[in-house]
Amino acid sequence: MKPVAPARISCHDRIKMLTTMPSHIPHFLQGNSAPGTSGRHSPVFNPATGEITSQVALASDEEVNRTVQLARAAFPEWRNTPPLQRARILFRFKAALEAHKDDLARLITAEHGKVLDDARGEVIRGLEVVEYACGIPDLLKGEYTEQISHGMDGWSLRQPLGVCVGITPFNFPVMVPLWMIPMALACGNCFILKPSERDPSPSLLLAELLKQSGLPDGVLSVLHGDRLAVEALIQHEQVNAVSFVGSTPVARHVHALATSTGKRVQALGGAKNHMVIMPDADLDQVVNALLGAAYGSAGERCMAISVAVVVGDVADTLVKTLEQRVANLKVGPGENALMDMGPLITADHRARVLDYIASGVSEGALLQVDGRTLAVPGHEKGFFLGGCLFDHVQPHMRIYREEIFGPVLCVVRVPSFQKALELVNEHDFGNGTALFTRDGGTAREFISQVQAGMVGINVPIPVPMAFHSFGGWKDSLFGDVHIHGPEGVRFYTRYKAVSQRWPTSRQALAAQFAMPTHS
Ligand code: NAD
Repeated sequence: MKPVAPARISCHDRIKMLTTMPSHIPHFLQGNSAPGTSGRHSPVFNPATGEITSQVALASDEEVNRTVQLARAAFPEWRNTPPLQRARILFRFKAALEAHKDDLARLITAEHGKVLDDARGEVIRGLEVVEYACGIPDLLKGEYTEQISHGMDGWSLRQPLGVCVGITPFNFPVMVPLWMIPMALACGNCFILKPSERDPSPSLLLAELLKQSGLPDGVLSVLHGDRLAVEALIQHEQVNAVSFVGSTPVARHVHALATSTGKRVQALGGAKNHMVIMPDADLDQVVNALLGAAYGSAGERCMAISVAVVVGDVADTLVKTLEQRVANLKVGPGENALMDMGPLITADHRARVLDYIASGVSEGALLQVDGRTLAVPGHEKGFFLGGCLFDHVQPHMRIYREEIFGPVLCVVRVPSFQKALELVNEHDFGNGTALFTRDGGTAREFISQVQAGMVGINVPIPVPMAFHSFGGWKDSLFGDVHIHGPEGVRFYTRYKAVSQRWPTSRQALAAQFAMPTHS
C-alpha cells in the first residue's frame, strides 16, 4: 500500500473547518476538498431557524466522469491490499468516529434538525457497521473441499466488484452512508458517495476521518449533486454497482435505470410501518413505544411507526392516553437537550405533511391532536410541526396508503388479529412491522405470516444490528439483497468457484468429450 499523500491543508485543520460549517460545501476528491466547477449549487438550511447556512456544489456530468476515473485508478491497488490491512484502517476509523461522535452529531443537528441525542444514536448505529466490517478477513473466507474429485480440490472465493456508488437520503446523513462505505471498502471496492443535498456536511467529515485513518486517496470520494449526478453515476460504464436509499419513486427509477445498464443494484425505498397492538399487551409499554417510534426524529425515519393497528376493545383507553402524551411532546431546536423532537427538513416538506393532514381531515379521519398550531418562540421561521394523532383511520384514505414522513400517527381499529395481519400484508410497503403482545403463539404466527422485511416483537423499531442485514419487502426494496451485515458482503463481492488439479506429466489426461462427472 502506498503511503498517504500529504494534504495541502492538514486533516486536522480541515476537520476543524468542517465542524464550523463553511458557506460553500465542496466535494471530496482524491483525498482533498474540491470546490464544484459546474456553477450549480443548492441551498442548505438550518431547519430550526429556516435560514440558509450554506450552498452545496452540484456536480456536472464532467465532474461525475472525473470522479469515476479517480476511483477506477485507485481500484487495482486497493483491491490487492490484504483484507487485514483494510481492516486496520477501519479499526482506526472506528476510533476516529468515537472521538468525533459529538462533532458529527452537531453537524447532523445543524443541517437535519433532529435532536442531538438522536443524532448521537445515529452515529453509534453507523459505527456498529464499521465494527462489523473490521472482521472482513474472517467474513471473506471462502469454502474449501479437498479431493472434490480424484486429484482435484474445489473452493470458492469472493472478490470485489470495482467502483461502487452510494446514493443516500437526508434523514440519516451519517448512518445510511455508513451502511455502505465500510462494507464496500472492506470488500476491496472503491466507493463514490452521493449524499443528500439537504444535509451534505457530515459525509465530508466521514471522508476526512477515513483519510486520517490511512485510507488511500481516490478510494472514497464524496460527490454532491442532484438527479443529474445520480443518473450520470448510475449510467457510467465504469461503475459496477449501485446502493440507493431514499423514497420509493426514486428507488424504483434508480433500480430500473441501473439494471437497464447491467449493474448490480439494491434500492431501498419508503415505508409505512404498522405496529399491531393486541388486547393483552402492556399498554404503558405500548404508549411509550409508540411515542418514540412515531414522533422520534419528527417521524422522518424509514422505520418510524406511522400506523397503530389496535385489536379489540383497548383502542379507547390507548387513544386517550396517547392524546395527552402527544399534546405534551416538547418540540424545539435540536440542540436543546430538553426537546423530544426538532423541525422537519424543509419548508416544502412541511407543506407536504400539512397537505396530508388536511386530506386526512377531509376524508373523515378524526384528528385527535392537531400539531399544526404549534409555535416555537424565537424560531418562528423554523420548519416545526407539532405531533399529530389521527383516530378511526380507514385503509382507503391517503394518510393510510401513502408515506407521510412527518410526526403523524394513524390509529386503525380492527376486531381481530387476522384482520390486523391482513392489513399489514395488503399494504404496498413492507419495510418493518411490530407486534405488541404477551402471547407467544400469536407472536410466532405473526413472525411466520407477516409480509415485511424486518419484524419486532415488543420492539417498536426493529432495525437489525449491523451483524444482520437491513431491508424491506414489496415497495420498500427493489433488488434482491439487503444492506450491510452478511448480505452486504454478498452485495459488494462477486463469487468465484475454483476447481484445481496438478496432474504430473505421467498422468497426461486424455481428451474427454462427455460431460465430466468426476466419478
Ligand atoms: P429522496 O428519494 O428524495 O432522495 C434520496 C436520494 O436520491 C438523494 O441523494 C437525492 O439527491 C436523490 N434523488 C432525489 N430525487 C432524485 C431523482 N429524481 N433522480 C435521481 N436521484 C434523486 O429521499 P429523501 O427525501 O432524501 O429521504 C426520505 C425517503 O427515504 C423516505 O421515503 C424514507 O422512507 C426513505 N428512506 C428509506 C430507508 C430504507 O432503509 N428503506 C432509509 C432511510 C430513508
